[in-house]
Amino acid sequence: MTEKRGCKSCGFPESIDFDQLMEGAEQTASDELYEQRLDLCMACPSLLYGSTCSFSGDIVHYRALFKEKSCPRPGSSVW
Ligand code: SF4
Repeated sequence: MTEKRGCKSCGFPESIDFDQLMEGAEQTASDELYEQRLDLCMACPSLLYGSTCSFSGDIVHYRALFKEKSCPRPGSSVW
């Protein structure tokens, strides 16, 4: 999967190949879990610019890839 988004700061277009990034990683979430997480993030009022979690500052498409990660919303984790 490749996501193409511009940098929020400078506008420079950048492509990220998440499959290549996570190649060989043992801690990767399953495809089903990843999609479930992203669906929740896309409906979350704390998502900024359609990509960034306002609590962690992480790009949710990246954070959701890691099996051991969780939603960082204080007191009411979504996933
Ligand atoms: S990680 Fe949690 S708080 Fe952040 S955008 Fe996703 S659902 Fe919302």
